[in-house]
This record gives sequence, structure tokens and C-alpha cells, in this order.
Amino acid sequence: MRQFDAIVIGGGLIGAAIGYGLARAGLAVAMVDEGDVAFRASRGNFGLVWVQSKGLGAPHYQRWTRLSAEEWPGLADDLAERTGISVGLEQPGGLQLCLGEEELNKRQAMMEQMRREAGNFGFEYRMLDHDELATMLPGLGPTVAGASWTPYDGHANSLNLLHALHKAFAEKGGTYLPNRTVGEAQAAPHDFRLQLGDETIAAPKIVLAAGLGNAKLAPLFGLSAPVRPQRGQILVTERTTRIWPLPLGSLRQTLEGTIMLGSSEEDVGFDTGQKPEIMRNIARRAVLSFPWIAELQIVRAWAALRVMPPDGLPIYDESAQFPGAFTANCHSGVTLAGAHANVFAPMVAAGALDPMMTPFSAKRFDVPAAA
Ligand SMILES: Cc1cc2nc3c(=O)[nH]c(=O)nc-3n(C[C@H](O)[C@H](O)[C@H](O)COP(=O)(O)OP(=O)(O)OC[C@H]3O[C@@H](n4cnc5c(N)ncnc54)[C@H](O)[C@@H]3O)c2cc1C
Repeated sequence: MRQFDAIVIGGGLIGAAIGYGLARAGLAVAMVDEGDVAFRASRGNFGLVWVQSKGLGAPHYQRWTRLSAEEWPGLADDLAERTGISVGLEQPGGLQLCLGEEELNKRQAMMEQMRREAGNFGFEYRMLDHDELATMLPGLGPTVAGASWTPYDGHANSLNLLHALHKAFAEKGGTYLPNRTVGEAQAAPHDFRLQLGDETIAAPKIVLAAGLGNAKLAPLFGLSAPVRPQRGQILVTERTTRIWPLPLGSLRQTLEGTIMLGSSEEDVGFDTGQKPEIMRNIARRAVLSFPWIAELQIVRAWAALRVMPPDGLPIYDESAQFPGAFTANCHSGVTLAGAHANVFAPMVAAGALDPMMTPFSAKRFDVPAAA
């Protein structure tokens, strides 16, 4: 039996960020990861480090997201230094474009609610009208009525992030165990054992970070992670000159010059197929925003599955039945990478989640419905 200080199940963005954070804290960590059969949100996302729309009606989520955005530059520098991989982080703020007055009014009301709910923590935002936007964004379409802006937003190369986290994890002595699907486990307080083929691994701590796989794994550890798949589709254009000074919510230009157009939200189960109507809608919205996008070739398109909790807020928990078992689930694993590596992992290393994490517990779903 191989003994570790901690086991992380899942090698996507969440598992890799937490695994790296634990290894950097000096723990001997095994990261167990399924093979190529897996649904991997971490390889099909949009790459936004996005804050402005997070936590409407749930200010603790806005605070957690902001904390992560603040941790991001340190994480990016640390990864670059350790691995030589640039994750291409830019945090110049972000704009969410609104097509038509109705969308703009709704957005303004939402942003104002976010500001109210933030209380003393604060929430800086501004609404821009068409004319002001047109001075910043060449070739803006007439349908764009305006946009919301916050200074907190940014974007990054999320594939480089995943690669860098894995490389840094290995560099800190982490053990990556790919092509292993965890289906069962032996759980006891501070004693977790996994049978992987003919090998058993054991540790006093375990973190379930298996994306959509967490729904089945959590009950084995006295936890609950009722996540479901939500499909998102993305289109990518050929490269063009660098044109936008900041990401625009559902449109962003990569450092290489391609423009990413996204992204849809569909409840279709475990189906990663693409749908022409959805692709058409994504392209249509992009062309209404900037008519010149119609001249660019689409060079890639894909669909991937978000890991979606029932209320859209992350689930972080520790097991009351089996102390030492933790879980992390969210649909913004790029944005939250800073918090996962630099804040969540140290809590796990110390043995308990900070009380600030209590509102994220899956216990919130146990509240009986009103009669
Ligand atoms: C279309 C789309 C756009 C997105 N855009 C953004 C964005 O702009 N910004 C942002 O912050 N987030 C975005 N996301 C979300 C982000 O990609 C996810 O939150 C993140 O990738 C989730 O990472 P994960 O590690 O939980 O899951 P995954 O990437 O799915 O990884 C889970 C891992 O667990 C492994 N696994 C599963 N079950 C088992 C098992 N039983 N045993 C062993 N291993 C197992 C799998 O092999 C896999 O490697 C987007 C997602 C999608 C789909």
C-alpha cells in the first residue's frame, strides 16, 4: 500500500489547482485522474477570469470570486517561475455588451443589485452607452445599446493554466496517476483507501475534485455534490489584428489573435454534440455586436459540459461523517483557480475549511420546501 498525505480525485482545473496548492504546502499528494473517456470542462472552456456577474443574491460568492481574481496574478507569476509556462493572464477589467435597450436596462438593474448586496465590501461598476463604447471598440454594431464594466475581470489561456498546474504539481513532488477511474473507496475518519487496479493508495485526507464525477463519488465519503452537466458551445475565428483592449463577456480575443465567440447554456445531459441552431445564435450575436466579424473564417468549434450545481453557486464541503474528506465543485474553474490553489488548498492542508466557506456547503440544499 502506498501512503500519501492527501489524495485528490480529478486532474481537471479544480483538482490540479488544489493538488498543486497541497503539494506546494509540503504534503505528499496523489492526483488520481480518469482516462480520455472523461468529460473535461477544463479542456473546453472560454478562458475568462470573470467576476462581474458572479454572486447575484449571494454576495459570499462575489467575495470569493473577487478573492480569486486577486490571487490570480500571484498564481500566474508563481507558475511561470516554476514551469516556464505563461498562462497569458490579462486583467484589464471587462465589458458585458447588451444588445438593445431592454437587455441594457436589465443589466443595469442587476449591477445595481450587486452593488447594494456588496454593502461595505463595495462593488465598482459603470454602465457605458453606445457612443462611449464606440470610441473604445472599433466597428461596434448599431444594435449594441451599451455595456456594463467592472475593473475586476480578465482572461487567460486556460489550457496553458491546466498544463502549468500539472507541471508545477510534478515539480513539487506530486504523484499523478492517470487512467484510473475511482468507483469505490474505503472511508474512515482520517483514513481513506482507494484500490487502483492491483495497487492500494491511502491518505488521511482526500479531496473530491472529479467534476461531474463528484455526483457519484461524494456519497462514498459522506458528502453530497448534486452537480449536473450544462452544455456550452464555443466558436473560434481565424487570427486577426489585436483589436479589443479588454474581454467582452461572450467575446474575447486571445493573445494569439483568434476571437472566441461564446457561449451557450443547454440542459441536454451528457451530450457533447454541437447544434447548428445554437452555433448560428452565437455567431449572430457576435455579428450584431461587430458586423466585421462576419468577414472572419470560423476555424474551430466545440461543445463541452459545465459542472453545474443546482443553484449555480460552488459547492465546497468537508465530511462530518468522515473528517478529512473534502469536495470542491463549480462552473467557474478558470476564474476560481487562484482561490483553489492559494486559499482552499491551504485550508485542506490545515485540516478544516474556514468558516467563510460554510455558505457553500451542500447542506443548503437540505432545507425543506415551504408548505
Ligand atoms: C463551454 C464552457 C465554457 C466555460 N467558460 C469558462 C470561463 O470562461 N471561465 C471560467 O472560470 N470557467 C469556465 N468554464 C468552467 C470551467 O471550465 C470548469 O469550472 C472547470 O473546468 C471544472 O473543472 P473540474 O476540474 O471540476 O472538471 P473537469 O475538467 O471535468 O475535470 C474533472 C476531472 O476528473 C476526472 N474524473 C472524473 N470522474 C473520475 C473518477 N471517478 N475517477 C477519477 N477521475 C475522475 C476526469 O478525468 C477529469 O479529468 C466553462 C465551461 C464550459 C463547458
